[in-house]
This record gives sequence, structure tokens and C-alpha cells, in this order.
Amino acid sequence: MDKDANKRGAVPAAALMALALALFPACGRGGRDAAWRPVIGVKIYEAAPPFDGLFRQWRDLGINTAFVSEDLLTNADFRALARADHLRIFLIYPVFQSPEAIKESPEIAAVTASGAPAREEWVEFVCPTKGDDYLERRIEHLRSLIAAGDPDVVSLDFIRFFVFWEKVAPDRTPGSLPQTCFCPSCLGLFERGYDVHIPAGLTGTADKAKWILENHAAAWADWKCDKIVNAVTRLAKAAREVKPSVRINLHAVPWRRGDFGGAIRSVAGQDFVRLAPLVDTISPMTYHHMVRQTPAWVHDVVADISAQTQGAAVLPSIQVSKAYVEDELPPDEFRAALEQALRPPSKGVVLWSWDALSKSPEKMAILKSLDGLKNKAR
Ligand SMILES: [Zn+2]
Repeated sequence: MDKDANKRGAVPAAALMALALALFPACGRGGRDAAWRPVIGVKIYEAAPPFDGLFRQWRDLGINTAFVSEDLLTNADFRALARADHLRIFLIYPVFQSPEAIKESPEIAAVTASGAPAREEWVEFVCPTKGDDYLERRIEHLRSLIAAGDPDVVSLDFIRFFVFWEKVAPDRTPGSLPQTCFCPSCLGLFERGYDVHIPAGLTGTADKAKWILENHAAAWADWKCDKIVNAVTRLAKAAREVKPSVRINLHAVPWRRGDFGGAIRSVAGQDFVRLAPLVDTISPMTYHHMVRQTPAWVHDVVADISAQTQGAAVLPSIQVSKAYVEDELPPDEFRAALEQALRPPSKGVVLWSWDALSKSPEKMAILKSLDGLKNKAR
């Protein structure tokens, strides 16, 4: 490193170290470099061995974190190379999204306000209460995965109520968003928990749902948030019992407090004020292009979550290429989103996905050319 580079790097490096220590204080034990690396991550769901070329590319791009599937976490070769490179491993752990479990036991599907199973294209959610055995099995499976794969972070995904938010554009009305779960188990628990009494004359699911949403919408939102807080509490506790130093990240629906009439709580059941103390980082999936937003919106979401949680660590994930819409996501727009994602108080950026990035030499060059974070990460 030349003298000028040192000079340029002095202040940002100190700031970055403070950020990274706040985010990953345990990393200090891993060595000087590991102590202050901000997150430059990719989400990767599958990869075929040998992995040497993959890790070489990541080193070249300054990628220091991988959000991986269960399959990759438990692949000994992948893990050994990740460890050798001091790569942080986040295990992506889906919770309530499970077409497989619902296929096996259709009765555990969440129920919409019309009484239908909660399903839209590939999105299929398990009821958070009727599926308690299901959640218990997910918790046990998480324990075994942590024991087998030793992730640095458990990244809880689909830890919310049903909504295909990826297709929710800014012009959607709150009333058009799905409400779940109105199965008998959830209705019974809601009535008992919140001292609400559904009139005996209402017998159909649609009538009961309508009555609740018209008369007890606030309590219903609170109850939904309770269920997610409860699930996160149980999953995090189990994870930390197996590995006390493991960190917990939460995949957040990218809605600000006031968006869609407060749908982050009333539809998704994600109350960041209550969830922040339970986890180490909150990672909004700020995929601006698919939800018809601008790159600047990425930072707005990060700032909103940080403000409402009084400074919880927020780690945005951005999309690399188009999804669900016809028009392309141009390189310049990707660069703009990347820059917005890295603005304070962000703790870094996660790119969804490696598959998309690896297919675009131009976008890889943009990542590599970024000033600041990446250059000081290695
Ligand atoms: Zn239910």
C-alpha cells in the first residue's frame, strides 16, 4: 500500500473498524483483518465442486461473506475453503415458507381471509400455530445443522406471515394485501390471547376474518407480531444453545413503517422494534427493481429500520439482475443501488444473487471498482 493510499484510508478505516466491531465483536478474535471487515456478501444457493475457482473470484472481488444454503453449509470442501479465506458464513434458514411440508400435510397451510390456503405462485406458507410441530421440527433441524456446519450466523428467512411482497408495487392498496392466518387454531388463540369474542352467528372463515379486520385490526396485527417474536425467540435460543457465539440475522420484508398502511406489522407480522433485541442484524431485502422503487429507496428502508429500532444493525440485500419484471436492471442502476446500500448506517451489502452477479462481467467490475469498503476489506 503506498503512502497516499494510507492517507486516503486513514479516517474511513477507523470508522469501518468501529462499524464492524459493533456488528461482529467476536470477529476480533479471528485476527486483525477479520476484526474490521464490513460485510460485502453474496447469496449463493448451489455450486458444484471444485470450489477453488469460486473462492478465487470472491477474493478478487473483495467478497468476504457468503449467505449459503443448507447444502453448501454442510459441504466439507466448501466449508474448508471458506474457513481458509476467513469468509463469514451465514446459513440461510427458511422458516414458514415450505411447499414440501404443505404437500406432505396440507392441513398445516396458512389460511387466507377467504378461507383458502395461503399460496401465490411459489410462495406457500405454513400456519404459525397449527404448524407448531412443524416449527419444532425446524428448530430441531437448525440445531443439527449448526452442529454439523458451524455457521457464523443463522439468517432467518421467511420468518413472517404470508405475502408475496416481491410483487407488491407502490400503488398497491393496503386492503389488497393478503391477511393470514384464519385457521381455527389461530382464531382460537387470538380470541383467548386478546379477549376477543367472535360472534357466534359467524360460522364461515370469510365472515370471521372480515369481522376481525373490521373490528379488531390493531389487536390482530399485535397478535401476528407476537407469533413472529415467539418464533424468532425460540429459533435464536436453540441456535445459541448449540453455539453460544452464533449470530442471528433476520430477513426483513422491505417495507418502511408507514408503507401500505403499516403492513410491515399488520400483514407481514414483522415488528422491528420488538425483533431488534432478539437478533444481531436485520437484513431488509431491498430489491428495488422488482418492487418498482428507485436506488435511493434502498437507503430509505435502511434508515427507517435503523431509526425505529434506535440503531439496530441493518444489513441491506440488493438485487443484481431483473426478477419478476420484464425490463432489465442496467449496470448503472446496479451501481447506484450498491452505493445507496453502503450509505451509513448500513453495515455493508449483500448481493442477491451470486448466480446473477457471476453472469455479468460488467456488474462484477462495478463491485470491484467500488472505493472504500471493499479495498480495505482484505
Ligand atoms: Zn393458523
